[in-house]
Amino acid sequence: MEVVSEVASLVAWRGDQRGRRIGFVPTMGFLHAGHASLMDRLRPEVDLLVVSSYVNPLQFGQNEDLSRYPRDADGDERLCRAHRVDLLFRPDSLYPPGFSTAVTVHGSLTDRLEGEHRPGHFEGVATVVARLLALVGPTVAAFGEKDWQQLAVVRRVVVDLGLPVEILGCPLIRDADGLALSSRNKYLSPDDRRRALSLVTALRAVAAAFQQGERDADRLGGIGRAQLDVDRLDYLEVAAAADLAALDQVDRPARVLVAAVVGSTRLIDNLAIPWT
Ligand code: AMP
Repeated sequence: MEVVSEVASLVAWRGDQRGRRIGFVPTMGFLHAGHASLMDRLRPEVDLLVVSSYVNPLQFGQNEDLSRYPRDADGDERLCRAHRVDLLFRPDSLYPPGFSTAVTVHGSLTDRLEGEHRPGHFEGVATVVARLLALVGPTVAAFGEKDWQQLAVVRRVVVDLGLPVEILGCPLIRDADGLALSSRNKYLSPDDRRRALSLVTALRAVAAAFQQGERDADRLGGIGRAQLDVDRLDYLEVAAAADLAALDQVDRPARVLVAAVVGSTRLIDNLAIPWT
């Protein structure tokens, strides 16, 4: 496995790989089994597998956890080797001097839910993803359904800009107790972790209520919120699965999404509404 920390070295490597199928998994590092599932999904389909690890400052707000985002360069390298990654790209800086471009996705895809609670976040995501896709030039890139709204935003960017890459959405991976795997789980105390499980309990309660016939999106949200044991709730909402539109009645494929702070850690999770 090659480990590359300079943009120029990545571009030089890429120039030697013309005609080969390249798979790409962009991450912010501190890799876990959720990230590994994306690598494993792509590995059999591609000639070369590239993983990036870059904590992108553009997607963090001023009062967010950029400076304390967890890092583990050795652990990331070990995990990538174990999952047969060909190139790990972990730049210290990703943007060129004078960088002044942003990719903005407008409308309800970005102004609700995460977009409402993290202003500027999706612009940072869209910008870094566009730059990484341009540099890596993958045939196919994998993103996790853990970040459901992000996946929808990335699909929009790729269609709107006509980027020549296939976007593959991959299932959300949970710990045995149901907690969605996240690099940020490292910051949960044992008591926080127990309370964090209320997120998945809440999502499952919403899915169960839907299965029992409840179709009113507000009432479904209320059923979920009643299960939460968190320090701050940003949202728990049932939204259209494809475009995250707000719903009155759940009359199309939908997703229940939650974001909440437990202790000092902000967590997100989501679950399919069992549409038949
Ligand atoms: P991150 O390092 O958190 O930016 O995540 C990098 C990629 O891994 C994104 O596409 C995430 O959606 C995906 N990912 C993170 N956690 C999980 C998980 N628990 N299950 C599946 N994919 C995940």
